Amino acid sequence: MDCSRQYKLEAVRNPFLCECKGLLEVIHDFRSLDSERLKREFDRRLSERMTNYSSGVWRYKELILPELPDAYITTKFEGNTGMYDSDRVAKYAGIRKLMLKAQSENPSGSFKDNGMTVAVSHGRSAGYTRFTCTSTGNTSSSLAMYAAIAGCSSYVFLPNRNISMNKVLQTLAYGAHLLSFNGTYDDGIRFSETNSEILGLYVCNSINPFRIEGQKSIIFEIAHQLRWKLPDWIIVPGGALSHATALGKGLQDLLDLGFIDRLPKVAVIQAEGANPFHRMVAQGESKLTPELQPFTRASAMNIGNPPSWKKALHYTVRQTNGVTASVTDEEIMNAKAVIDQSGIGCEPASAASVAGLKKLVEEGVVDREATAVCLLTGNMLKDTDAIREYHLDSMSEGIFANKIIPVSLDFESLQGYVPNL
Ligand SMILES: *Cc1c(COP(=O)(O)O)cnc(C)c1O
Ligand SMILES: [Zn+2]
Repeated sequence: MDCSRQYKLEAVRNPFLCECKGLLEVIHDFRSLDSERLKREFDRRLSERMTNYSSGVWRYKELILPELPDAYITTKFEGNTGMYDSDRVAKYAGIRKLMLKAQSENPSGSFKDNGMTVAVSHGRSAGYTRFTCTSTGNTSSSLAMYAAIAGCSSYVFLPNRNISMNKVLQTLAYGAHLLSFNGTYDDGIRFSETNSEILGLYVCNSINPFRIEGQKSIIFEIAHQLRWKLPDWIIVPGGALSHATALGKGLQDLLDLGFIDRLPKVAVIQAEGANPFHRMVAQGESKLTPELQPFTRASAMNIGNPPSWKKALHYTVRQTNGVTASVTDEEIMNAKAVIDQSGIGCEPASAASVAGLKKLVEEGVVDREATAVCLLTGNMLKDTDAIREYHLDSMSEGIFANKIIPVSLDFESLQGYVPNL
């Protein structure tokens, strides 16, 4: 991204930094692809079951990692997630038409699976059997799951603060070596980038460019589900910014291939306690100033120094003429309650997308008549503490709180709670 030096696919540079220490990105040569033929082939693959091409990621293999020999594909048929048209959530956000893309329905419960299937498959093709990441939780659950089904091992560096216990337990249950350390996510990233290759560990942190390629499938699948007609806006939460980058990069691919004829705008939403990217964009600065002590209840976005900010700035904000916004934890938790009560459900970080959309509509940045897709990044059971705190804690001021009702099992007293027909 910095010096334009190019490497061949075979010349793996674990941990994926250029000689100049800049980020690497995958560049495709799509010139030999016939878009119309490819569209028909993607349609045909929708009827395959339990093959590599029935995965919502590998269905689009030609646009993701065409050279990978099929024998290395490690898949759990990820992707293939629902897209829901929710009037209730649309009304809350103040917009005419809103769809929710539930990446929360992935096999390990978050969109990280879309990228991790590609990273682990690539790592295996390069001869690695040991994988590592530093994670705020979902990346590690996803890595531990794919490493286990590949018969490989995973080593997960876990910051010991502000992390959801559900995610830690899921990672542990899949059999990862869980290495807890005293420090932040950013400390762990720095450590693993310096030491992994010496330890023979393939690095699956968000700078791994193959994860970004896999995550592009999210926008391919959205476009495919909408018959290649995208809405005006796509709204995504931003932590390390790999999701936002992948959306922007995937949109550019679709435009280059003629699958779509214009780019929707992308809005990247951060939490107020961890919003260095938003501050940079809003203040028109050209360099990101890290947040040294990030804090948000939406733990999946609790990142002060997002490694992929340059990519996100290029592919998402500049290329799509997109915007950023920042929302409070309270706005996030209220939006989550509405999404949960609409029957779709998500973890706190995901709800930043809807909270951010509501804010952008109120500010007049997004028109009420516009159409939008909000990305729901993680499953509601990923953070059950957040549900308990919002609904049940006596101190909670959740405006949509749903309390447990203590009753005695006699008809008379129950009539007070169950309305008559
Ligand atoms: C990872 C994650 C995010 C943030 O995505 P980035 O690519 O780090 O910006 C948001 N929500 C959930 C549930 C996540 O797991
Ligand atoms: Zn370089």
